[in-house]
Amino acid sequence: GRNNSGYYPARLGQSFERGRLCVVRKLGWGQYSSVWLARDKEKSRFVALKILTCDATKALSEPEQRSDELSLLRKIADSDPSHPGFPHNIAYLDFFDFLGPHGSHRCVITEVLGYNLNYIRRHKGDGDLRVQPSLVKCVVKQVLKGLEYLHDVCGIVHADIKHDNILFRPADIEAVATHELATKPSMTYDCGTELRPSTIPVVSQALPLSTDPLIDDKIIKERDFVVVISDFGHSHWRHRHFQEIIQPSALRAPEVILGYKWDTPADIWNVGCIVTELLVGSWLFEPNVEKHWGYEEDHLARMTEALDCSFDVDFLAKCEHRNKFFQPSGVYSDWSLAHFEKHLEPTRQIDDLLRSYSLLQDASQIKAAERFILRCLRLIPGERTTAKELADDPWLA
Ligand code: ADP
Ligand code: MG
Repeated sequence: GRNNSGYYPARLGQSFERGRLCVVRKLGWGQYSSVWLARDKEKSRFVALKILTCDATKALSEPEQRSDELSLLRKIADSDPSHPGFPHNIAYLDFFDFLGPHGSHRCVITEVLGYNLNYIRRHKGDGDLRVQPSLVKCVVKQVLKGLEYLHDVCGIVHADIKHDNILFRPADIEAVATHELATKPSMTYDCGTELRPSTIPVVSQALPLSTDPLIDDKIIKERDFVVVISDFGHSHWRHRHFQEIIQPSALRAPEVILGYKWDTPADIWNVGCIVTELLVGSWLFEPNVEKHWGYEEDHLARMTEALDCSFDVDFLAKCEHRNKFFQPSGVYSDWSLAHFEKHLEPTRQIDDLLRSYSLLQDASQIKAAERFILRCLRLIPGERTTAKELADDPWLA
């Protein structure tokens, strides 16, 4: 029978590439992969093995290709290592393909990183998903540097900028990993000891490498880590799209929903969404399917609600899916969302959210954060500020 997910059942202590790589611990997993800490015995260093599921591996050779993570990672690694945004993208090392019990797998080898942003939010221990504004600024500055490199130098749209794909690179990963091996032996395999396969369980629980000081963002020390964009499994060339529907649905930019040509501004939309979410501790957009309208229509309406503006008629005229959501209305033959005339209540505007829910202290900080977010969340993609320009925004100074 076909494995429903096609994840590779790696075992601690198992080796790859003729014994060169030894699996030490499971670090994480996503929809298309599981990620393992491994020891590269030849180079005497730790590496991360991103083992794609069988399905994701098979999709690489299909005409309806989802993405091409490998060629994108190579472009990122080779373009311009001296660029200030270069260190803010994950470092690619190598790849290999192999056959598992459920089929073939692609394995991408990258540098090892620490926690992702979501893990940090969820393991602070207080159930509060808000992140201190100082940490949000520190993270977003570095994400913008990384995006500037991707957009302007590599010609890449990440298309999946979200908390799980923003990771922390501790200053000394070798020290962190070595410490973890010594202190959490039940979750790890010491590659120095002899392997007895019968005693090694299949690992289901993932444990990211500890970068403990990050868990309490009050004692965060900026110089101890670098923020890194990872997961290029859904990314695209600016001038060659693998598919037209991109981004997790709740973070999807209006132009993607409306069928207007998307480009790098789609990533900036996500930056606006995740900055708001980190500050207020909840989703910015949580579209619903309602009796009289669908998820996407609800989403578009919530955008106009949060931003207190409507879609520009000339922009809509260039959108392939305009008529799916909008209908002509009124004497000026403006286009409006078919079902929303009476439903919108402007109580979820960005400044309201920040004032009510964020940890931002004073009115000037709230205003500055709002201005920053609104530069990211322009409905018309061409009006959104670029990553390079946003890095100089007064809020981040
Ligand atoms: P997917 O395409 O399946 O979402 P990701 O590349 O996002 O795959 O990896 C899944 C998870 O594994 C990430 O959210 C992260 O927590 C963890 N992870 C990925 N790469 C690394 C790495 N190099 N070092 C440490 N953890 C990683
Ligand atoms: Mg991911």
